[in-house]
Order: sequence, then structure tokens, then C-alpha cells
Amino acid sequence: MALTAGVVAVQGDVSEHADALRRAGAAHGREVAVEAIRTAGVVPDCDLLALPGGESTAISRLLGDEGIAPEIVAHVEAGKPVLATCAGLIVASTDAGDDRVDELGLVDATVERNAFGRQADSFEAPLDVAGLDDPFPAVFIRAPVVAAVGDDVDVLARWDGRPVAIRDGPVVATSFHPELTDDDRLHSLAFFEGPDHSTD
Ligand code: GLN
Repeated sequence: MALTAGVVAVQGDVSEHADALRRAGAAHGREVAVEAIRTAGVVPDCDLLALPGGESTAISRLLGDEGIAPEIVAHVEAGKPVLATCAGLIVASTDAGDDRVDELGLVDATVERNAFGRQADSFEAPLDVAGLDDPFPAVFIRAPVVAAVGDDVDVLARWDGRPVAIRDGPVVATSFHPELTDDDRLHSLAFFEGPDHSTD
């Protein structure tokens, strides 16, 4: 049976996540039907969710205004998987360090927005990620870092000594943009291979 994957589409890179989800599903013999989430009422039908990058303040405001935020929280409380990337990580955190972001609290983490500074606004780096055999080509765009995590959070990758990929139960969150390469391993890890994935 096809899985229903929701991509939060209020702002940010949506079609790239949709493509990566379909490819990762195909690599695991699963058909994935992708729903763009712009209004309340769609998330409850989704088996898994991607929370894309973009601008965290705008995404946060729209999730609140549209009534989507509590549905995402309920999705995670039900143990269903989420992959949150870049601004998605900021919105998913417990502390974004910015009053304009109403954090969803999906991952027990404090984040620092735009942590790599202007000089290094955007860069690609080969990243060692726990659970992957070879380095992942990580694309960082005005990326946040994780400044602190709770006891139950696994750090999957660090850059410059700082966490840039974490897992908290069913939620995987990355500072970088795995959807912007043709490498689907992070989507696979989040949705089809992780210890807590519930898509089988
Ligand atoms: N700098 C953005 C923010 O703070 C995140 C950038 C991104 O998602 N690529 O929200």
C-alpha cells in the first residue's frame, strides 16, 4: 500500500523533498504519494512528514495561522516520523532563540540561527553521518547549528565540532538540506531505516 507523505508547503523547498521522498520510497520498494500541506486537515492523513527549509519566522507564523502546528505535534506524539531540514529544524526545536519563532518542540534541542556567519553563508561539505557508510554531501544555506540537546537526543553528525544532524525518537532534524542533492540516504534514514520509523 502506498505511504502518504506530507511536505509542509507553506514556504520553502517543497518539490525537492517530494522528489527525494519518492526516490527513497522506491529504493525501499514503497510507493509514496506526496501531499503538499498548506492548510489544516491534511497532516492527520499522513504517515510521514517533511518540514523543509525556508525562513523559519515565516514558516512558524503560517503554521500557527493555518492551525497546522498542533497537527504536526500530534503526528509526532503518535510516533510517526518527521524529517526537518534547516529552517524546519529551527521550527521543530524547543528553543530557537528568536521570539518570532513559535517552536513546535519536536526535538529537544536549542538552536542558533544563521550560525555560520555571512562569510560561510552557503557551502557544501562531506559529512560523516552515523548510520551511513560514506560521507553525505551536505548543503548548508544560512544554516543553524544545534547549540544544546536533551539527554534523549542522538547526535548523528557534527560539523566543526557542532551538531548538525540529530534524532529525537521519530524525528530526524538537519542543519543542512539533504533534499538539494540526489542523495536520498537521509530521507531513507529518517523514514525507512531508522530505529523508530513506523512506516512498515
Ligand atoms: N536562515 C534561515 C532561518 O533562520 C534558514 C535557512 C534555510 O532554511 N536554508 O530561518
